[in-house]
Amino acid sequence: MITTYHRPQTLDEALTLLSQPNTFPLGGGTLLSHPTVDSVSVVDLQHLGLDTLRVKGNELEIGATCTLQSLLESEHCPEALRSAIKLEAPINIRNMATIAGTLVASDGRSPFATALLSMDAKLSIDRGPKTVDGPSSTVYGLGDFLPLRPRGLITLITLPLNTKFAFEFVSRTPADKPIICAALTQWNSGRTRLALGGYDKSPMLAMDGTEAEGLESAARNAYHEATDEWASAEYRMDVASVLAKRCLEAL
Ligand SMILES: Cc1cc2nc3c(=O)[nH]c(=O)nc-3n(C[C@H](O)[C@H](O)[C@H](O)COP(=O)(O)OP(=O)(O)OC[C@H]3O[C@@H](n4cnc5c(N)ncnc54)[C@H](O)[C@@H]3O)c2cc1C
Repeated sequence: MITTYHRPQTLDEALTLLSQPNTFPLGGGTLLSHPTVDSVSVVDLQHLGLDTLRVKGNELEIGATCTLQSLLESEHCPEALRSAIKLEAPINIRNMATIAGTLVASDGRSPFATALLSMDAKLSIDRGPKTVDGPSSTVYGLGDFLPLRPRGLITLITLPLNTKFAFEFVSRTPADKPIICAALTQWNSGRTRLALGGYDKSPMLAMDGTEAEGLESAARNAYHEATDEWASAEYRMDVASVLAKRCLEAL
């Protein structure tokens, strides 16, 4: 239960508040506002101006409080990423849920986190107010962030734009979260990065190579232990390799 609510006007003020114990950033609040027995203090980010979307060189810079729906509607959002965002949540949630909140709260079944893992998204995380030595900001690759989920305020998410991107999935119904999904990003240099989702606590990076050679076997091998109540590992291995092949054909 939220027992204390702050709405700071500056990033420094927010970071000072967040350094207090049991105090969390409030994005869209779609998860954080659920009833719980624990008392939490929240720092609402809506007045910090972190809801921007802009192109800088070959990158799309997405402010942490940008909503899933505004990314989906952006002209810079790749079509296949739009499919992953639609699968992540229905429209009422997409209108509220922020990009950072979604990544922090994501599990292995998240199509959005799978897509951004494949794109090698970068997260800028602030841990405290600016000092005389400058801002205390660290940049994490999403692949390093997800297993640890270090505390701190995500301010910016950066995606590459000079890439081709494909996303494929299998689920019980067209709008359900996938039992397995594959996201493939290919850079002009040939670099090819495959992420798989649909299982476990975080999506999995199956391949990050200089070319697409070996993609299907990398997909198959990545899920050799991926058994849960939704599907067996044998099924996921077979489907992962088929989805990886479809992604490659779709690029
Ligand atoms: C009824 C319902 C049930 C749901 N159940 C689940 C569920 O069980 N599991 C699940 O994964 N999703 C669930 N969701 C989906 C959840 O809404 C999404 O994860 C959503 O995208 C979270 O985004 P938000 O901006 O609303 O985050 P919030 O609810 O505001 O925050 C979610 C988490 O992210 C942190 N956070 C937010 N912004 C930042 C930031 N800038 N920097 C650092 N940390 C930040 C918060 O402190 C909090 O820990 C549910 C949604 C609904 C409506």
